[in-house]
Amino acid sequence: MIYPVNEIFQTIQGEGWHTGVPAIFIRLQGCDVGCAWCDTRHTWAVNPDHRIEVTDLLQSAPATAWASMSPTHIVEVVRQPKWTAKWIVITGGEPAMHDLRPLCEALEQAGYQIQLETSGTYPVQVSAATWVTVSPKIGMRGGHVIQACALARADEIKHPVAREEHIAALEALLKQVSSKPRVCLQPISQKPAATALAMRVCIEKNWRFSAQMHKYLEIE
Ligand code: SF4
Repeated sequence: MIYPVNEIFQTIQGEGWHTGVPAIFIRLQGCDVGCAWCDTRHTWAVNPDHRIEVTDLLQSAPATAWASMSPTHIVEVVRQPKWTAKWIVITGGEPAMHDLRPLCEALEQAGYQIQLETSGTYPVQVSAATWVTVSPKIGMRGGHVIQACALARADEIKHPVAREEHIAALEALLKQVSSKPRVCLQPISQKPAATALAMRVCIEKNWRFSAQMHKYLEIE
């Protein structure tokens, strides 16, 4: 299995249930979900003309560049001595467009715990031990629907909110889930009204508030 990798970097997880955990992010290229507020639009297209070598990707590469990497090659990169995090976040783009089981297996054999961040619009193909964060992207331009199997596999639902209708849409989704995933509300684009709404509903429902700490700290 070969994956189109947009970037690999170590930082602190800035959002969701594991906010604050040192983590290595593997960002895969490619997404056709089409969220209006997407802050990683550079990952949408897998343009063959923007394919580069891995060594160039790890230096400073254009935002839309990507490299083909095998699970073995990705493990070699994340094991570099200066990176100490044992928590790996596979994100995108939409990483669930790919069968991630070979990558999960290779990373777990190397001693890492994996988190997947997905929009819930594709079936999730990961290891049994992977922590799955579904951030449901409902009614986006790409025309995808939320997959019941992705919701059922979610350990955490991290929901972007700006208006009351987003809360109603989440509650409708939660009615479909027999498991009890943890719920985080995340204000869209740090707008004050969205933040106030998320805070109020989190307190009412005893859900967790996800502030996207990295955006306030202006770190990656
Ligand atoms: S699913 Fe993620 S990467 Fe894709 S458009 Fe939505 S926010 Fe952007």
